[in-house]
Amino acid sequence: MISIITPVYNEGEQIYSNVVKIMSILLKNNIEHDFIIVNDGSSDNSWQEMQRLCKNYNNISIINLSRNFGKEAALCAALENTYSDACIIIDSDLQHPPELIPKMVELWKEEGYDVIEGIKLSRGKESLFEKIAALTFYGLFYKSSGINLNSASDFKLLDKKVIDAWKSMKESITFFRGMSAWIGYRRIQIPFEVQDRAQGVSKWSFKSLTKLAIQSITSYTSAPLYMIIWLGIFTLFFDFILFIQTMFMKFSGKALTGFTTVIILILGIGSCIMISLGIIGIYISKIYDEVKRRPRYLISSKEGKGFSND
Ligand code: UDP
Ligand code: MG
Repeated sequence: MISIITPVYNEGEQIYSNVVKIMSILLKNNIEHDFIIVNDGSSDNSWQEMQRLCKNYNNISIINLSRNFGKEAALCAALENTYSDACIIIDSDLQHPPELIPKMVELWKEEGYDVIEGIKLSRGKESLFEKIAALTFYGLFYKSSGINLNSASDFKLLDKKVIDAWKSMKESITFFRGMSAWIGYRRIQIPFEVQDRAQGVSKWSFKSLTKLAIQSITSYTSAPLYMIIWLGIFTLFFDFILFIQTMFMKFSGKALTGFTTVIILILGIGSCIMISLGIIGIYISKIYDEVKRRPRYLISSKEGKGFSND
């Protein structure tokens, strides 16, 4: 039994037909499945459409979050509410081709892989700016954590073992792709071509993506904190050379008014301190977020057979 998990945020115009399409592919291939669809606080008619799905198909369960918590939290909500032998995570806008699902299932069943990851062959339609932003983020992430997520996607099949391992990770700020790479297990990658959105536009804004980028790096690795130390050592070295030069100028009587050096030093050191404080601040705020032990998401209602006994 396999659960298909899909997060939904303002996809009212397409969620019904997209789910039906995914289902028809599964049925054609005789894959025993159910659906867990999570509404991530949509402000359109997505929830009504999901209720319609739930009424018409008895293998569809739906979860309604109390507000928009973000895709990561929506995935958490679904994963924590599934008890199937495996899960497939797929976007609700059909950008992840559902035609690949039978192949994923085969790899899982026949060859015993625990994680089957969809890998983007190309990144779909993107503006130059989006391309640069994505490259910068993945570059930073790779440098600081050693994990290459460049072509990783959230399109994945996860075995029950992996989901259980993932459930035992209790941090409240999650970066799904990073965490599922950290877990390990027997994994294989299958490439796919990112499709155009079935309908509507992407729900990410520049601000929300920047926030996700900073959050995912800082919640995954503390490398930036160590970078500060290197930055400090580097400036110290630089200062030392300047110090000797200044002393030399002074004692040889060649010292000028010297304001340039002072200003440069103040600027340099000042900016290093600011950057360092900023980075430390980010981590402190994360510690703060973690110690609050707030839930990752709040569920306002659940419907469907999958939840009938709670
Ligand atoms: N999504 C979500 N919460 C959000 C933003 C997006 O659950 O706050 C869902 C969205 O409905 C879709 C998936 O995450 O199923 C991917 O979102 P989108 O297509 O906007 O992102 P992109 O494909 O551009 O990465
Ligand atoms: Mg999309």
